[in-house]
Amino acid sequence: MTDTTHAHSIPASVCVYCASSNAADPAFMQAAERFGEILGTSGVRLVYGGGGIGLMGAVARGAQQAGGKVLGVMPAFLTDRERLFHEVETLVVQSMHERKQIMFEQSDAFAILPGGIGTLEEIVELMSWRKLELHRKPMVFYSPGGFWDPLFTLMDHTIEQNLTPSWFRDTWRSVTTVEEILPAMRQMAPAGPQRDPTELM
Ligand code: AMP
Repeated sequence: MTDTTHAHSIPASVCVYCASSNAADPAFMQAAERFGEILGTSGVRLVYGGGGIGLMGAVARGAQQAGGKVLGVMPAFLTDRERLFHEVETLVVQSMHERKQIMFEQSDAFAILPGGIGTLEEIVELMSWRKLELHRKPMVFYSPGGFWDPLFTLMDHTIEQNLTPSWFRDTWRSVTTVEEILPAMRQMAPAGPQRDPTELM
């Protein structure tokens, strides 16, 4: 069971996974920028993919304009396509694997905003590492209008089929406003739900 009754400390660094598309719903763009602003004004460092486009650009601009610390992590081959955001500290790395590893290591918690295949790829790895108990860092989905419901339904399906353990369903939270993301992270117990050692999965 996750302890949701006690507030824990605010994470020092939050990694944001989200869309690189500029064609995203303007409401998503505004929410991303607002979340960046919340991070900046809360003294929480933003760790993200380093781009200046789409929701990722919006969150970085919001944080930077609010005076927050930002770390972008960008593979060299994507610096043009994803318009490296020059206003913030950026690590240019060699591969997508290196990018994901650094984003993971530099963060205490993860916020997932609406995104496409790239976002899915990143969060599925993050979630699978949680299932393997390679980390217990809070994972919070911002799911406006049920954006992430199809993913949660798929996860429930694998649980119903006994392919994923039921405790895994409590390893993330879903919220509908960006204002709820940091409080949700704070409320998640540092240990979080755990595997029953007698379970086979
Ligand atoms: P998308 O949701 O498709 O807009 O992608 C969001 C971000 O994820 C973009 O910055 C992509 O470059 C990034 N991305 C996609 N696949 C990977 C991967 N395998 N490792 C790290 N980042 C990725």
